[in-house]
Amino acid sequence: MNFNPDIKLSQKDRDTLVVHMKNMPQEYANGLRRSLHSEAPTVCIDKVQFTVNKSSLTEEYMAHRLGMIPIHVDTDKFEAMDFYYACKNLHQHELDLQKNLICHTCMSICSLMVSNTTNKMITVTDRDLKFEEPQFKSFSVFRNCQPVPILRLGPNQSIGFKAILLKAKGRVHAKWSPVAACALRPRVTLDIKNMMKLLDCEQTNVHATHYLNTICCKGVFKIVQGQSIQLNESDCIICDDCLRKPFQCNYTGEPLGYPFVHENGKVRLQQPVGITVSETQFQLLVESAGVQSGQEIIGNAINALINDLEDLQGLEGYELISGTAFDTVVEAEELL
Ligand SMILES: [Zn+2]
Repeated sequence: MNFNPDIKLSQKDRDTLVVHMKNMPQEYANGLRRSLHSEAPTVCIDKVQFTVNKSSLTEEYMAHRLGMIPIHVDTDKFEAMDFYYACKNLHQHELDLQKNLICHTCMSICSLMVSNTTNKMITVTDRDLKFEEPQFKSFSVFRNCQPVPILRLGPNQSIGFKAILLKAKGRVHAKWSPVAACALRPRVTLDIKNMMKLLDCEQTNVHATHYLNTICCKGVFKIVQGQSIQLNESDCIICDDCLRKPFQCNYTGEPLGYPFVHENGKVRLQQPVGITVSETQFQLLVESAGVQSGQEIIGNAINALINDLEDLQGLEGYELISGTAFDTVVEAEELL
């Protein structure tokens, strides 16, 4: 089956990307969304060994917090790192951080040691993390932004630990997911013919304008000079409020129902707005967690999809159908 899909990328800023898809079956579009949040890899802190903890927080709480802090890794090093679960080296000493007996193929080490010798509260941030390899950087150093706070230390309190950095995917744990938001939305087409009739009619114009101004929580309908409607269909979240709430003909909120129409000798209610949700056109919003750019993330997600397909193709009895949506996915990767 040939879908002749069409994919276009539009970049809002470094972190935000919108993928416009046409002629794309829903399962393929959703496959790309799933790949973005669970198959594109990142590096983050996984195991923490505390050497001193004279803070007010428990070690379990801090280990969880440290795992959520984004860590930047230079591209060459990032690509050279193996996934820890696929590494072929033996890992019997992986937790012996004091002797640095770790696997350098799939792991790296960072450490932190802060003592508060002042008589004021101080904040420990991601800038206090010391990385063993120069290719690793704290998020705030890499983006030159406000430091990410880890915890507060009172006078005479101190914190010290060594931690292992691992490369993995969001499907292992959400902390490895590179995206802060990843939303797939079908294209929506709104039919406002009936509403236009109400706007054109002198008796109903005022009520129709009031209805359109108040019915949509996202402000999809915008009345221009009281006569025409400007639609922002891409903002529609398909809440169906404009279908479920009856057209009201006065400001007191008294529902008078939809306008009646005569059709084939019968009287029926007419909905003022119609909504058609596409099954083949989608918009995918990708928002980075901050370390990788939107383009890098989508490139990694597409690579992960291609690798999975190649693995599938290698299995006996499976044959990929050519001319499917993934041919275009491969083409899209070349455009990046
Ligand atoms: Zn290893």
